[in-house]
Amino acid sequence: MPGGTTAQPAEDPQTPAPEYADLVRETTLLNPEPGEPGVAESSLGGELLWPAAEPWPYCAQDDHWTYGTDLRNHTPIVPGEVPMVPVLQLYARDVPGLEFPAGKDVLQLLWCALTHEQDPGPVMPRLYWRNEAEVLAGGVLSPHPEATEGQYDEDNMPTPSTLSPATAQDHPSGFDLPEGMRGSGLPGPRPAADGFEWLPDAHVVATKVGGWPAWTQPAQWPDCDAGHRMEHLLTLTGDIQLGDCGGVYFFLCRACPGLPWDWRFDCH
Ligand SMILES: [Zn+2]
Ligand SMILES: [Zn+2]
Repeated sequence: MPGGTTAQPAEDPQTPAPEYADLVRETTLLNPEPGEPGVAESSLGGELLWPAAEPWPYCAQDDHWTYGTDLRNHTPIVPGEVPMVPVLQLYARDVPGLEFPAGKDVLQLLWCALTHEQDPGPVMPRLYWRNEAEVLAGGVLSPHPEATEGQYDEDNMPTPSTLSPATAQDHPSGFDLPEGMRGSGLPGPRPAADGFEWLPDAHVVATKVGGWPAWTQPAQWPDCDAGHRMEHLLTLTGDIQLGDCGGVYFFLCRACPGLPWDWRFDCH
């Protein structure tokens, strides 16, 4: 902004409507770094704090398969029932921006790491909210079942990583901008003391909690069964290869009992 002049929104076609400020949301970037996360840590692809008394989840879809890790192998392996793999574990203390359900302080995400005929990506994710003290009191499952060679696709396996959560301001991708604001010169503007400043990376494409989905394809927000538009819970992108997919997005409805959740992914 030259010479500290005051912005004149009405005269500048690049200046967005003031309501853009209402679209700013706080997100928590998870910043995964390959490592050896322990069961008591927040992690991507790490050990989970799993109750000893609870069966580990398996996927038994008969249409899932893999070529395995040998690229010369052109015959799909169809392994039958396989253990799901840990994807994400978040302790409430590490992500203060995430509202946990009453009495819960651990969020866990697992999925089947095979390819599924019906969807071109990891499917059958499972989401769990837990209470750390309760799990510790009842005993932790160790070791837990692991998907072995032929029971997963490399692309769908997160590299075990520790997390360094940090909050940031997030802005909607072009797919989530209100009708009248699309094509207004993305990436977007950010309110500043003297009007607006343009922020080239205002929309955060990263593995993150809250904020806006990092869609790479047109938005596809799910509704719960009661018809509520769900809220964005987290985006996984970049830190997992996910085949041709840009990201996997999780959503939940806080208006309904039981916190119904759903997920989407977008592929090129
Ligand atoms: Zn499966
Ligand atoms: Zn609902």
